[in-house]
Amino acid sequence: MRLIIMGPPGAGKGTQATFIATTWGIPAISTGDIFRANLAQGTPLGLEARGYMEAGEYVPDSVTNSMVRNRLLEADTTPGFLLDGYPRTLAQVAELDSMLADAGQHLDCVVVLTVDAEEIVQRLLARAVKEGRADDTEEVIRRRQEVYAEQTEPLIEVYRERRLLCEVDGMGEVDEVTSRISDALTQVSEA
Ligand code: ADP
Repeated sequence: MRLIIMGPPGAGKGTQATFIATTWGIPAISTGDIFRANLAQGTPLGLEARGYMEAGEYVPDSVTNSMVRNRLLEADTTPGFLLDGYPRTLAQVAELDSMLADAGQHLDCVVVLTVDAEEIVQRLLARAVKEGRADDTEEVIRRRQEVYAEQTEPLIEVYRERRLLCEVDGMGEVDEVTSRISDALTQVSEA
């Protein structure tokens, strides 16, 4: 299975991505996690991404695209993969299309978690306290929602037109959302 999981910041993508990856035996590739790991280790990539992340802005496409291209060449992606946090811009969609075409592969499904905007901000504020993420101040949280609406939401229509979209209600308990995603992906795999 080759999957994307999308949704606004705070929609619970990371939590659900871990579950999907385990169930389907594929790696969950989170661009946010990769950037954070690089930042923690002080690599050149981390230093480059830092300012953007702390401001709630997207890291430039050129940087993100080459990072993902390299990651998708690793052997563990042979049975498939789940991308969490990529693509986030139309230019990234085009780049992913070319990566897949080069490999003679295609996407099976784009899972979109739909959530209530106000509830999301509350979740993110709670997470900021719990995890102490430097990019989780209230101002940055708002900016991230704006950037998502401007740059990433349009991708939903692109994948809808390609008939790849699985919209899943992301509200409620984690387990409920997990079983909705499971049902949706089981349908895709049996189609
Ligand atoms: P969120 O909490 O919004 O789901 P992530 O953990 O996925 O955020 O990503 C954290 C930050 O890393 C983003 O705000 C952005 O600065 C950067 N980032 C992650 N993925 C991408 C991407 N595909 N393109 C550009 N920047 C990205």
